Amino acid sequence: MAEHVTRADFDLYMFPNYAPPDMVIVRGEGSRVWDQEGRVYIDLAGGIAVNCLGHANPDLVEALTDQARRLWHLSNAYANEPAIGLAKRLCELTFATKVFLTNSGAEANEGALKLARRYAVDQGHPDKYEIISFEKSFHGRTLFTVSVGGTPAYSEGFGPRPGGITHLPYNDLAAVEKAMSERTCAVMVEPVIGEGGIIPADPEFLEGLRSLCDRHGALLIFDEVQSGVGRTGDLYAYMGVGVVPDILTTAKGLGGGFPVAAVLSTDPVAASFVVGTHGSTFGGNALAGAVASRVLDIVAERDFLLEVKRKEALMVELLEGVRARHGHIADIRSRGLWIGVELSSEMAGRSKDVATAALAEGVMVLRAGADVVRFAPALNIPDEDIVEGVSLFGKALAGLV
Ligand SMILES: *Cc1c(COP(=O)(O)O)cnc(C)c1O
Repeated sequence: MAEHVTRADFDLYMFPNYAPPDMVIVRGEGSRVWDQEGRVYIDLAGGIAVNCLGHANPDLVEALTDQARRLWHLSNAYANEPAIGLAKRLCELTFATKVFLTNSGAEANEGALKLARRYAVDQGHPDKYEIISFEKSFHGRTLFTVSVGGTPAYSEGFGPRPGGITHLPYNDLAAVEKAMSERTCAVMVEPVIGEGGIIPADPEFLEGLRSLCDRHGALLIFDEVQSGVGRTGDLYAYMGVGVVPDILTTAKGLGGGFPVAAVLSTDPVAASFVVGTHGSTFGGNALAGAVASRVLDIVAERDFLLEVKRKEALMVELLEGVRARHGHIADIRSRGLWIGVELSSEMAGRSKDVATAALAEGVMVLRAGADVVRFAPALNIPDEDIVEGVSLFGKALAGLV
């Protein structure tokens, strides 16, 4: 039994880099959670697009506890069945023929970027190290990934940043064409910008990046940390667009709440990570492998993904109703159960106020910048919770002036 702690202890004992609301969540089931006071909330945030099968999903509890009784961890000094099984499953389901397992989105992207640079060196091009990425994109919080990301404020104030990185406007193919050269080793892109506001790439943009990378011998890296594992209604967003990357990173939804991530690639590229080039103590953890394999078994089913698209249509229709009734909404963008509600000009900069008001009504939502409210609920959220959650959200919005 854990020691009794309160929200005040958060401020006493934890680094001040987060400022969560004034409550502590103690339990979750499906798409509902309860706080220490017994208050219930509908969860339309999904732990930031992580809890793709809801809280305490019985299948995942079974996968985790079965594995917990057998074997937890060995490190990569020894092979284990769940890790191999997860890698095999990811290869069967995607373009990949090789997988590197790790723990978080940032670590997966760090690995992808190091892989791209090492691959260029191995091809005999030590000067081919430049990385092109995009404004508004988010790739994680390590010093390298935060520097590749498109929010300069996140990487300022930590001393010298890694070099060889160029940021360009998203969806601007002409800018990429102009900036790309024989020194470009990789282009890293989110097929749908998540943290930056749920902004989908134009299909022609991704197709154009593919052919520019081919022309310049650069690797195309899709950061599918947030867009992957069924979030968009396709298992991976690239499948919906039909543009295949050389490297893909996946994390958030992969473990349904258990920390796990992976770098996916093909044999010729993966070959650059020879023994000793890269590693991770926790990557390939047996518990993570068991849980993530079970997540994929469920989410990759065609009927499950069709349901995601049906629930998307329901949720967007209800949000359109909120817009018609209360205004305050300029735009609603969705890709699967991943929805950005852009606030209208009179509400500019107030996504935090909206999230706070929504919580007071009993519904958890996310933000994606100052002007966008983001929804990333469990992919199996019951229709009733969508209906009630959006209704509470509408009430919160109407109460704001
Ligand atoms: C969340 C996110 C990351 C970082 O993942 P962490 O697990 O927080 O390190 C990277 N890229 C994208 C697109 C993300 O949404």
